[in-house]
Amino acid sequence: MEQPISVTRSNFNDWMVPVFAPANFIPVRGEGSRIWDQENKEYIDFAGGIAVNALGHAHPVAVNALTEQATKLWHVGNGYTNEPVLRLAKQLTENTFADKVFFCNSGAEANEAALKLARKVGLDSGVAGKSGIVAFNNAFHGRTLFTVSAGGQPKYSQDFAPLPNGINHVAFNDLEAAKAVINEQTCAVIVEPIQGEGGVIPADIEFLKGLRALCDEFGALLIFDEVQTGVGRTGALYAYMNSGVIPDVLTTAKALGGGFPVGAMLTTDKFAPHFSVGTHGTTYGGNPLASAVAGAVFEFINTPEVLEGVKHRYQYFLDALNALNAEYQIFEEIRGQGLLIGCELKAEYAGKAKDITTWAGEEGLLALIAGPNVVRFTPSLIIPEQDIDEGIARLKRALAKLAK
Ligand SMILES: *Cc1c(COP(=O)(O)O)cnc(C)c1O
Repeated sequence: MEQPISVTRSNFNDWMVPVFAPANFIPVRGEGSRIWDQENKEYIDFAGGIAVNALGHAHPVAVNALTEQATKLWHVGNGYTNEPVLRLAKQLTENTFADKVFFCNSGAEANEAALKLARKVGLDSGVAGKSGIVAFNNAFHGRTLFTVSAGGQPKYSQDFAPLPNGINHVAFNDLEAAKAVINEQTCAVIVEPIQGEGGVIPADIEFLKGLRALCDEFGALLIFDEVQTGVGRTGALYAYMNSGVIPDVLTTAKALGGGFPVGAMLTTDKFAPHFSVGTHGTTYGGNPLASAVAGAVFEFINTPEVLEGVKHRYQYFLDALNALNAEYQIFEEIRGQGLLIGCELKAEYAGKAKDITTWAGEEGLLALIAGPNVVRFTPSLIIPEQDIDEGIARLKRALAKLAK
């Protein structure tokens, strides 16, 4: 066989639309919670592909599901259904509040479907002008025009005006502010149970309960964006299960495919029929390859052992991070749930989160930021304790650079 053409990090600048600024090394291989780059340097993976690689890299359960399906059937299009997608739909509906599922390929697409469904339900209600959407400052819902508009970070939307209108943003965790804008014209409230990209900020349970009550009062859909919090990330299968608040629509992606692109919008029999044949669609959504992998990943995660393991690892991380912080006094707060952990920097280190992840890379650790002041960790849900220990040791060396 011919050698593949050789490529380097600088080729990214040559050929790629510059929307990202990737690290100066290129990962080529992964196993469990370790990754190796082109120079065969090893990294501990606390990033998990941004809360995606829930089983780490090259887990046999995912690899087997993928390769087995790869020899059978990849894609058939929407004129036909397929076995893996029906099995996955059964799993998702049997294990959540939902009765019906719409499959797509990403978190943004799942939210796009949720927001369009809400607009359609509002239209069908017969209430004039029932198209208003309430969303929250600092929220992140994806990068399509509708989802950046629903997101609460103007820097992601303002350059693309005119934006879809009818979207109102208020402060997160401020129920009075939400109350002031939710009314008969509201068709949906969209919220993350934990704001992920926005800085790992958990919603207060009373806030979520209050939103549920307001949605019930005014006939609006409560949409939980669980793209980041879903599929075991918080130690519950979905984060709504921690709050006791049941949404009308839930969006899930990231960890669902364990690294294979897939997304889904879950809803109930009450709302699903507002989408009829032709109302919405996608070419790839629910394709057999993605569905087979997601089915295997979901089944593996949805066990008491794995979910309890996430809670245990959270405590283990927390203890290690608190010990580091006792030494270096860099973090103002360490917060999150399960394996979605955010470390907010003290004011004197404001804006340094990116530097920390860069230095972590030099020390052999993959880590994330969530805004300029928060270092975020979203590792594999089954990361071994010895890899946590080694990753923390490398983080310690990166923090030492900052502290001096
Ligand atoms: C990542 C993310 C999205 C967008 O998902 P994509 O797959 O990148 O489109 C939406 N909502 C939340 C909460 C996310 O974390």
